[in-house]
Amino acid sequence: MKIFDVSLTIREGMAVWPGEPLVVLNRRTKIEEGAHANVSFMSLGAHTGTHVDAPFHFIAEGSKADEMPLDVLVGPAQVVEVPGAVKVITADVITSLKISDEPKRLLFKTSNSKYWDLETNEFQPGFVGIDLSASEALVNRGIRLVGIDYISVSPYKNSKPTHDELLGAHMIIIEGLDLRSVSAGLYTLYCLPLKLHGADGAPARVILTQE
Ligand SMILES: [Zn+2]
Repeated sequence: MKIFDVSLTIREGMAVWPGEPLVVLNRRTKIEEGAHANVSFMSLGAHTGTHVDAPFHFIAEGSKADEMPLDVLVGPAQVVEVPGAVKVITADVITSLKISDEPKRLLFKTSNSKYWDLETNEFQPGFVGIDLSASEALVNRGIRLVGIDYISVSPYKNSKPTHDELLGAHMIIIEGLDLRSVSAGLYTLYCLPLKLHGADGAPARVILTQE
């Protein structure tokens, strides 16, 4: 069995959504300074790096990060590759991708993957997102989980329609995937968000496996 780690490394200086808190991750005690053990401290936003959005992110009565269904977060998933020329994923793009009926978990690998190659700490506003028409198409197909390879599923400055549509349909959203190591195909997804009480999102370790 092959295991693909599709999670970003959480580190200080990494790109975060504009206005979100920067990552703090450092050791408060250090063996080399005489301490018995190394002990790190961290402070970060719930939507840092590879993370899930809980419905509560945009839906006032939506479920929280600690209530997300594990049977949706784990199971068969399809990685689809979106042609590099596509700047926004629309309903027409969804149709052109010839997505199969099953599984109901879809991960979009787009030209966003190039941003991880840059290893830049700068937020990239030109990332590829999913618009409202595509969101409606995904809901109509009964998709339960959707993932994408940048830190928002929706196009920049147009967050609400896509999130309202997807989260309103109780779909789980995974953002900030690093899909560089995988190509289009079928995998088993394991997405385990931190069990953060009452939170609207949570960082997750996400892996894909393939026999
Ligand atoms: Zn998010």
